[in-house]
Amino acid sequence: MIKRRILNHRTRFLERLIRHRWALAALGSLSALSMVAATAVPVASPPPGGQQQVVEQLQIQARLPLQEGPELFFREETIERGDTFGSLLARLGIHDDEAQRFILSSPEARHLHRQLVAGRTVSARTTASGELVNLHVPMAGGETVAVIERKGGMLRLSEHTLHYETHQVMKSGEIRSSLFGATDAAGIPDSIAIQMAEIFSSDIDFHRDLRRGDRFSLVYEMQYHHGQPARSGRILAAEFINDGKTYQAFHFEQDGKSAYYDAAGKSRKKAFLRSPLEFSRVTSGFSMRFHPILNTWRAHKGVDYGAPIGTRVRATGDGVVEFAGKRGGYGNLVILSHAGGYQTYYAHLNGFAKGLKKGSRISQGDILGYVGKTGWATGPHLHYEFHIKGSAVNPLSVAVPTALPLSPSQQPRFQAQARQQLALLELLQDTPTVRFE
Ligand SMILES: [Zn+2]
Repeated sequence: MIKRRILNHRTRFLERLIRHRWALAALGSLSALSMVAATAVPVASPPPGGQQQVVEQLQIQARLPLQEGPELFFREETIERGDTFGSLLARLGIHDDEAQRFILSSPEARHLHRQLVAGRTVSARTTASGELVNLHVPMAGGETVAVIERKGGMLRLSEHTLHYETHQVMKSGEIRSSLFGATDAAGIPDSIAIQMAEIFSSDIDFHRDLRRGDRFSLVYEMQYHHGQPARSGRILAAEFINDGKTYQAFHFEQDGKSAYYDAAGKSRKKAFLRSPLEFSRVTSGFSMRFHPILNTWRAHKGVDYGAPIGTRVRATGDGVVEFAGKRGGYGNLVILSHAGGYQTYYAHLNGFAKGLKKGSRISQGDILGYVGKTGWATGPHLHYEFHIKGSAVNPLSVAVPTALPLSPSQQPRFQAQARQQLALLELLQDTPTVRFE
């Protein structure tokens, strides 16, 4: 049944690919890739103005002759208090003197400087070397957006009425060196990569567990403006094959709360996260450079995570603070006690989260403190221990209690939704071997 449906999908993708060849550009060139597929699928809601969607469905095959041109990167950044275009362009990875001059000092762009309001999100597309392709700056009132783009070698500024079209984007990739290496290659925004790491954070420690050859497939929402990706949304379905083991997650909403479940309707959230460090581009790169002297768990009953000083350390499970202070070689240490006789230790901290003290109630993911090198630490890192009934166990191999399944009354709606998403994920898995006939 499902197979037949996929075949129909393929035929439709093909037809639309021909009608919407230009949309290849909207998703970026995939020239460097051999294992990546990208598909944009419209969601059910009709676009404003009753017009036909611009980007319908398309599927890009590695074997297709791809559009010429450099690889393009999509990035978005939330404006922070005190940001200037200088700081923002740097964070967006724009290294482009001409664009910088245009934005910072041309009279045309002057009024944009008043639009840098904290909390708004700007997005940019650049080439691999940081040359600006386009930049989207939302304007006051939220109804228009300023777009700076390079057209025929010239930079132009125009303003448009905002009408985002939400599309489902499907992408897959394979880990060769790092997660961000793979998501960059597939043109997946950082916010989506981080969401994926969060969704699987009870099963996979993205700092330590990734293997060369791990694969992932994603279905996520992306908002388009005039056929260009402008804002990333949430992940609807994801699959990650880590060290030969397959994990799946499907987005589901009930009572206004959204969460992720596996195909059987069991929550992806478990009693403990696999890693006490928040996953980011910075921590992911740092872990790989870090070579502690005592690297084995046996040698010191804990696991070390290399990370820059100040990186946020989070509680791996719900619990109560049993200790927060200095203790010998641990330096600044937090000990949490959890239900069922579990304890977790977080050591060498630079400092503690505001208000944290003995007896504080903590939820999974709450920030406990910041990475440092207090106590016996050769460099900045987090030392993490996991204790069961008083004795240290290897947190990398401990089996933790799992979460509760969805209520039976929610199951039919969940299953119907998950089946559709599963078909899309299966389609992605098959993609590298699909031929256009
Ligand atoms: Zn250690």
